[in-house]
Amino acid sequence: MNNLFADRITDVPRSFIREILKDALQPGTISFAGGLPNRDLFPLEAISSASEKVFSGIGRDVLQYSSSEGYEPLREFISAQYAEKGLDIPVGNILITSGSQQGLDLLGKVLLNDGDGLVIEEPGYLGAIQAFALYRPEFIPVTVDENGMDCDLLAEKLQQHSPKLFYTVPNFQNPSGITYPNANREKVAALVKKTNAYFIEDNPYGDLRFSGEHQTSFKHWLPEQTVLLGSFSKTVVPGFRLGWIAAPTSLMEKLIIAKQAADLHTNQLSQCIVHQYIVDNDLNAHIREIVAAYGKQKDAMQSAIEKHFPKEVRHTNPEGGMFLWATLPEGASALKLFEIAAEKKVLFVPGDPFYINQTHKNTLRLNYSCVDQATIVEGIERLACAMQELGCL
Ligand code: PMP
Repeated sequence: MNNLFADRITDVPRSFIREILKDALQPGTISFAGGLPNRDLFPLEAISSASEKVFSGIGRDVLQYSSSEGYEPLREFISAQYAEKGLDIPVGNILITSGSQQGLDLLGKVLLNDGDGLVIEEPGYLGAIQAFALYRPEFIPVTVDENGMDCDLLAEKLQQHSPKLFYTVPNFQNPSGITYPNANREKVAALVKKTNAYFIEDNPYGDLRFSGEHQTSFKHWLPEQTVLLGSFSKTVVPGFRLGWIAAPTSLMEKLIIAKQAADLHTNQLSQCIVHQYIVDNDLNAHIREIVAAYGKQKDAMQSAIEKHFPKEVRHTNPEGGMFLWATLPEGASALKLFEIAAEKKVLFVPGDPFYINQTHKNTLRLNYSCVDQATIVEGIERLACAMQELGCL
C-alpha cells in the first residue's frame, strides 16, 4: 500500500540520526551525539510545586479548551523579555506553539508553495530541513562558519533566485555552535532587505551565552521581515513542548489560522505551569546555573580536543549553546570515522544530515551539554584514537 503516501512525505528522509544511533548505544558508550539539554538541571521540585499551585489556583479551567494565540500572561512575559533586550514585540504579535519546532511547520505551511526558494544555512538545523522539506521548497544552501554567513555566496544566490524565506540560527547554531558577528549580520541584513522575503531568526540557545558579547537581533535591521522563534526547551524543560513565534501582524493572522487547523491551541496546562514556575522563581538565576554548567563542559571538551585531536582537525569555539563542530581534513569521511568511533564506544553525529544532499562530509557535531567533564575528556581521547585509525589525516 506504499503508493498511497503523499509525495510530500515520501520525499522527506527519515531521521538519519535516529537510524545510525539506534544500534550504536551500547553499555559503556560515551555519547556526544545527543542534542538534549541536561536533565540534571531540570527544576523538578519547582515545577512540581508550580503544577500543584496551578491545579489549586486556576482549577478546572486549566483543563478546558483555550485560546489559539496562547495563555495571555505567558505571552506578556515573553513580550516583556523582548523589551528587556530592546525589542518591541507587542503581545498580539506572539503566538505560543507546541515547541519552536511547530513554529517551523506553521511557517512552512503559511509561506511555502512547491518549489519556492528557501535560503538555509549550511550546515543547518536538521529539524528545520525536515520540517520545511514537507512543503517541497527549493532549498538554497548558503555556507556559514565562524565569520557568520558567506555574504559573497549569498549575494550570488540572490542573483539567481528570489527566495520567499530565509532560515537562520544566528546564536550558538545547531549544529555548529557558531554565532554570526554583528558586522556580518549587518551585511546579511542589507542583502535580505532588498528581497521580498521573510527572515527567520530561530533562537532557542540565545540565552545560553557563557562568554563573549551579546549580538544584535536581526529584528533591529529588518523590523518588517524578521520572524523570531523562541523556546522554553533549553531554559526550562523541553517536555512541556513550549515555544513561540513573534511575527509581523499580517503574517501572524495567517499563522493563527494555520495553528487552529493544526491543533486548535498549545497545551494549556503546560503553559500555565511554566508561567507559574516563572512567577514563583528567578528564571534568570536558573539560566545562569545552566550557563555555568555548559560553559565548564564546553571548556573541558575544548581543552581535551586541543590536547588530543590531530592538529589538522579544526573546530569551532562556541560562546554558548550546546554544540561544537569539528572539521576533518578535506576528503576524510566523518561517516567512516563514526564506524571506527562506535567500536571504541564513543558517538557523535556525522555532518551529512546537516547539508542538503551531500554525503561523506568531513564534519561532525559534538554535544557537550549532557556529559560530565571527566567523561568528556575520556570520550575525546577515544575519538582522537579513532581519528588516528581513520588514517587520512
Ligand atoms: N530550532 C533549533 C535550532 C533547535 O536546535 C531545536 C531543538 N533541537 C528546535 C528549533 C526545536 O526546539 P523545540 O521544539 O523544543 O522548541
